[in-house]
Amino acid sequence: MKLISVSKLRDYHWCPALAYLRHELGIFFPPTPQMTRGTNLHSFYGSIWDCAIALRNYEDAKLNLINLVDSYRGVDMSEQELLNVGRKRLDNIWSLFGNHIENGMKYESEVSLRSKELGLSGRVDFIYRTMDGTFVGEVKTGKPSEFDALQLNTYMAMHLDSNKGFIEYTESFVKQDFSEKMHSQVMEIKKNFEEMNNTKPVRTAKCDYCDYRKYCFKV
Ligand code: SF4
Repeated sequence: MKLISVSKLRDYHWCPALAYLRHELGIFFPPTPQMTRGTNLHSFYGSIWDCAIALRNYEDAKLNLINLVDSYRGVDMSEQELLNVGRKRLDNIWSLFGNHIENGMKYESEVSLRSKELGLSGRVDFIYRTMDGTFVGEVKTGKPSEFDALQLNTYMAMHLDSNKGFIEYTESFVKQDFSEKMHSQVMEIKKNFEEMNNTKPVRTAKCDYCDYRKYCFKV
């Protein structure tokens, strides 16, 4: 049975026409500078977690940020900006999980998930094992979107021993419990994706900065 990736469902939810062009016709574009910046920041945030979990001490992790910033000089941000963002991130990590980290919290990153039962595959950013059970976590460097919560919920459904999670945005962490309602919504999106329903382009504000404009509207 062919599994559908959660990222394809994300594309479909964002715009069915885009999912059709990308996943039925196989039209892709190279990553934009903004996407590359997001990827680098994603990696920077992962390194902050690595450091927090390895050192298990807030002050040591904060001191070590200087070394981390040094190794991310290629990211399109000044040293001071990176340091500010890193400190804020570390504070968020400690306010939510400080106690768990100091008591030996474990985690895995980039975990592949597959569920034959749901017909889905995906790769979750983090699985955290704490004294309060397992959490799934996603890191998002863009603006919060409706699908972020649906995506996290889907990873919870695919990872059988977790019904708790959170999304790390740049400014704040948003906690979330598994929701059956969201799960049904994702299954509906999957059904529509499989049938490639409603893929006729519809002009919206998103089209103004979409690479696929010329395919949809010939401009
Ligand atoms: S141009 Fe608009 S309709 Fe076409 S793929 Fe992009 S967002 Fe969708």
